[in-house]
Amino acid sequence: MTKKIDVELRNIQKRFGDNTVVENFNLQIEQGQCVSFLGPSGCGKTTTLNMIAGFLEPSQGEIWVKGKLMNGVPSNKRDLGMVFQTYSLFPHMTVEENVAYGLKLRKVPSKQIKERVGKILQVVKLPHLADRLPKQLSGGQRQRIAIARAMVTEPSVLLLDEPLSNLDAKLREELREEIKRLQQVMGVTTIFVTHDQEEAMYLSDQIVVLDHGKVEQIGTPWEIYNQPASEFVHQFIGKSNRISGVVQGTKPDEIELMTESGIKIVAQQRQFAYSSGQAVSIYIRPEKLKITPTDIEKREPQQSSDTNSMLAVVQYTSFLGSFTECIVEANGNLMNIRLDSTDPDMLLEAGSMVKLSWNQKDVYVFSAKES
Ligand code: ATP
Repeated sequence: MTKKIDVELRNIQKRFGDNTVVENFNLQIEQGQCVSFLGPSGCGKTTTLNMIAGFLEPSQGEIWVKGKLMNGVPSNKRDLGMVFQTYSLFPHMTVEENVAYGLKLRKVPSKQIKERVGKILQVVKLPHLADRLPKQLSGGQRQRIAIARAMVTEPSVLLLDEPLSNLDAKLREELREEIKRLQQVMGVTTIFVTHDQEEAMYLSDQIVVLDHGKVEQIGTPWEIYNQPASEFVHQFIGKSNRISGVVQGTKPDEIELMTESGIKIVAQQRQFAYSSGQAVSIYIRPEKLKITPTDIEKREPQQSSDTNSMLAVVQYTSFLGSFTECIVEANGNLMNIRLDSTDPDMLLEAGSMVKLSWNQKDVYVFSAKES
């Protein structure tokens, strides 16, 4: 069964004077989905959200919400819930009054207001704070109340603009769990703006990766991570190790590469086509590199027939609990490797020699950027 489309952007563009800050933005969001706009500062995330919210009009294109054209419709007539980075609670009103505000505006009978506010405060697990003023709450509690206030009117769409960015790391994690739970319990179609890739992956059904006002890729977190549409997307999502190289030859499903230091790498052909002699950037993620300690005395020199492996020297390791991060130097490249922190063989000392190896399916190749 096909789901209803709650939000649709049709070829949206936004210009400020001569400066185009959003272009050719096309998107469909299904009912109940959470979609993140992800990208570095200035890529156009907030501008796009503000167009959906009705704070800005697009220079071109159409915005549809629940089958209605929104262009020209004032913000307060768009049936949206909004939460911003800075806490936007009314300081002189109690928590209960803050949450009730939108319902009062809609002239909901007071008995119903009491019930709905009580219920949503239960959902955000803060019913005991109903009589407090915002200044008597912690940052995390204030953001939860702001979310409750946005959700209590049961909006068609919930817009969240970096709601976690003023919170410390632990609280961010707690609150993103909370938002995920609320979003699933309430089933509200949600757009989440963030520059934090982990947050976007955690919360979203679909991620829109933006760079300089252009949509680089739209996909599930799995697709964005495993099938990046561009070098920008691959680099922006998670850590990766980059090596420069040249294409030696191509087969229908393989690319043969040579690094600047003469290491042979074979990669799987993905969606891009390559030709011999082409300069490329080669990437392998830290968790895809296997490491084998090598006895420095008995070690074999690098064999010219070796592919997808290289010798390296450990620079340092950092134990991080669930994994150990290891930095090695290989032919002038510093490489980051994620090790099993419970394996005693992986307690590697600085200066020790190791062999790195990897599978060809884990190599990503992108055409080198012209500088
Ligand atoms: P951040 O993560 O820093 O909030 P963002 O991705 O949300 O960034 P936007 O705030 O959408 O980025 O800004 C996109 C671009 O549009 C930036 O280059 C910004 O300087 C520009 N911009 C935003 N608002 C205006 C405005 N009112 N007038 C002119 N330029 C603007």
